[in-house]
Amino acid sequence: MIAGWQNGRIAGLSAILLVLLPVATPADNTTGWVDEYRAPATRLINEATRDHFAWNRLASLTDGIGHRLSGSPQLDRAIAWAAAEMKRDGLENVHTEKVMVPKWVRGAESAAIVRPSRQPLAMLGLGDSVGTPRDGLEAEVFIVHGFEELEAHAADLRGKIVLLNGAYTSYPESSRYRRAGAARAARHGAVAVLVRSIGPDGLRLPHTGALDYAAGGARIPGAAISSEDADLIDRMATRGDTVVVRLQMDAHTEPDVESANVVGELRGRERPDEIVVVSGHLDSWDVGTGATDDGGGCIVAWEALRVMKKLGLRPRRTVRVVLWTNEENGGRGGLAYRDGHRAELGRHVAMIEADNGVFAPLGFGFSGSDATRQTLAAIASLLAPIGASQIVRGGDGADITPSAREGHIPALSLEVDSSKYFLIHHTQADTIDKIDPDEMAKCAAAMTVMAYVIADAPERVR
Ligand SMILES: [Zn+2]
Repeated sequence: MIAGWQNGRIAGLSAILLVLLPVATPADNTTGWVDEYRAPATRLINEATRDHFAWNRLASLTDGIGHRLSGSPQLDRAIAWAAAEMKRDGLENVHTEKVMVPKWVRGAESAAIVRPSRQPLAMLGLGDSVGTPRDGLEAEVFIVHGFEELEAHAADLRGKIVLLNGAYTSYPESSRYRRAGAARAARHGAVAVLVRSIGPDGLRLPHTGALDYAAGGARIPGAAISSEDADLIDRMATRGDTVVVRLQMDAHTEPDVESANVVGELRGRERPDEIVVVSGHLDSWDVGTGATDDGGGCIVAWEALRVMKKLGLRPRRTVRVVLWTNEENGGRGGLAYRDGHRAELGRHVAMIEADNGVFAPLGFGFSGSDATRQTLAAIASLLAPIGASQIVRGGDGADITPSAREGHIPALSLEVDSSKYFLIHHTQADTIDKIDPDEMAKCAAAMTVMAYVIADAPERVR
């Protein structure tokens, strides 16, 4: 049929096709502009990965200042250091934004089996826990392996120390035991709770992390013990022994203190009122030095601005780095940003958080419309040279979520090879030696390219 058509008719049809084609192949039409960014993306990747600047800056933070629990003098020092360093980088509008944060103090703590044999336990009190009486408490242990078993034995828990020894499956699932174990055991009269550490089996390391008490409910001390110690107690009980543990914790909460989010910008050259946020949280737990959680995330987010500035690549829109305070035990930094920036949330084009470690980058998590996902996938394709071109489900960062929800802002999370993350998460082993400088530089490159292209896109990414 086509072969028999007159030339004129074919020409006429072609004209119609030319008009229709863009509608028929939206992928090419809506993301073709990304091709223009291949050259700048290559320059940004090369600059971010040509040395170990990011790793060395992280070492200044973790070796020079140490861990950064909310309310600690170390966090105050880290905030002042970050603001001063941002100014040295030549970032614009560098300032701190006041946030009142809880001040939980761990104090001295210990736990030991006293029956059937005397053995010290590798333990860490859970964040926001109350302490024990000054001289500690001693009680028989009752073991459960999940909340169903706990409820089934509600009548057996009075006066006991409950050990929640649920196998580690995934962080979201297993961390419920740490979060809610104390509140649920307290309801049935338990005097304390021990939780099997939330993480894959390691080298007898306890993992801390926050617990949540029920409003108006009894508050009992909560601590994590290493998986090896949890299994030791379980074996003793299985053999028919009565296990008695002695727990001593000085933990307490003092009145809220002043802290701050640290903010710096590279102002947009055409639409400075439109904002792309890159971020990580500067606070950490008080064990290890918060290198992976989340000093590394802070530095690679910040690198986006430093690298663009160094290359003289100023995007159309403003790129703003925010180093959040108090992610670990309160989330007050993210909430304060939402409240303090309410009037401009509508002008936030995207918010990105790096809080999954800075191991080999894979791409970004994003939850939102298919159209936006398609745009982000096209941008991420620029990261193929460093293996970071995936767009996967996710995108929730603890600190960006309050603003992103309220402002309907596209939210992205840096996704990395997380196989090592939960081994060291919230432990004494969260130190910079676990971080490979080349992998960290690639994370910085991924953050830089994603932020740059979203901020410079001809049309606002929605
Ligand atoms: Zn974190």
